[in-house]
Amino acid sequence: MKVLLIGAGGREHAILHAIYKSPRVDKIYVAPGNAGMRDMAELVDIGVMEFDQLVAFAREKAIDLAVCSQDDPLCAGIVDAFEEAGIRIFGTRKNAAIIEGSKAFSKNLMKKYAIPTASYEVFTDPDAACAYLEHESYPIVLKADGLALGKGVLICQDFEEAKAGVKEIMTDKKFGSAGNELVIEEFMTGREVSALAFCDGRHYKLMTSSQDHKRAGDGDTGLNTGGMGTFSPSPFFTDEIRDYCDKHIFQPTLDAMLAEGREFKGVLYFGLMLTADGPKVVEYNTRFGDPETQVVLPRMKTDIIDAFEACIDGKLENLDLEFEDNAAVCVVLASKGYPLSYEKGFPISGFEHFDNVRDFCFHAGTRLAADGTVVTNGGRVLGITSKGASLREARDNAYRATDWISFANKYMRHDIGKAIDEASE
Ligand code: ATP
Repeated sequence: MKVLLIGAGGREHAILHAIYKSPRVDKIYVAPGNAGMRDMAELVDIGVMEFDQLVAFAREKAIDLAVCSQDDPLCAGIVDAFEEAGIRIFGTRKNAAIIEGSKAFSKNLMKKYAIPTASYEVFTDPDAACAYLEHESYPIVLKADGLALGKGVLICQDFEEAKAGVKEIMTDKKFGSAGNELVIEEFMTGREVSALAFCDGRHYKLMTSSQDHKRAGDGDTGLNTGGMGTFSPSPFFTDEIRDYCDKHIFQPTLDAMLAEGREFKGVLYFGLMLTADGPKVVEYNTRFGDPETQVVLPRMKTDIIDAFEACIDGKLENLDLEFEDNAAVCVVLASKGYPLSYEKGFPISGFEHFDNVRDFCFHAGTRLAADGTVVTNGGRVLGITSKGASLREARDNAYRATDWISFANKYMRHDIGKAIDEASE
């Protein structure tokens, strides 16, 4: 089978590893891919939003299966474009990807179908938003409606901050048209857990749980980032919580989408907060999460191609989705200064230590320089994932592996998975 993977980040590198493991796959292309992928796939210089070119390439190479797990192309209809051309693709169609593409849509969906989430209001007028905020209690959460690279969420401590946030999002349009609508949401407290599910429209199969670390600094301090590290499984996602979510969140969401004529196929990511009133949805994503995928897929035993096809063909009920009975921890190596400004172009060394069995080095912000060396090319540079028999062992292995990699201005958090200690105390 010939596969075309569309995307370029650490998530795609983890997906590529899983595809490469499948005995059913003979050849893999990645568009546009990254410097770490060359050993496993042929890189194709086409951007993720160039649908016509991607479809033409897939036709020319007689691709059997395309795979896309990135929000922008999914929300813009890449799956629809491939399907119209008669090419099989794993991903979510545009009319269902709106569950991530519009927070107003997802909040209204949850309200209509009584799926637990923070209470909220949606505004299209900045003055009306400010008038509402004047009488609310704080902290409060402001969210730009559309896609904003994970940066369109502001947690405001008082009215002045909230007013400035409304201006930033709705008037100054810091996130462009994503800020045409604004969701104002109740602030929730609790531990966050990520749950990923394969979905075939009617059924879902839950993958193993994981937990992200969003803040840039140790002890959850500093600015929000795309994610500084993850561990899997989450000891906080107990069987009892899982059962509750199955009944009140996971299946109801799929049923709601179906009832709305927006059959959901692909990967649905549930960002959950375990509040004192029970688990609530923080957000939906219509794809594998990053960096969660970097700890989930290395533990997956089932052939990922079987899972992709079961979703496309509506046969997920027959799939045996299995994960290894172990743990994984991913520590992100970033460029000092991220998520604000940072320098790029520093040579990276140490890749030869990774065996791709226990220890993995997933590339995110890297580039191949003219002289053939791999250099830093982004805020989040690499995801270092290690497995272990327990979460503690996986964490020790992952931190040991971070020492193997050298580049100037290397920055990481030192407390990824520290929460595990609390769970076992
Ligand atoms: P991404 O897609 O990068 O995960 P996003 O822009 O879709 O992010 P959300 O996941 O909705 O944004 O929010 C980002 C983070 O803000 C959450 O992971 C959570 O830590 C915090 N957050 C969001 N909503 C709330 C809320 N109602 N109460 C408390 N914290 C919240």
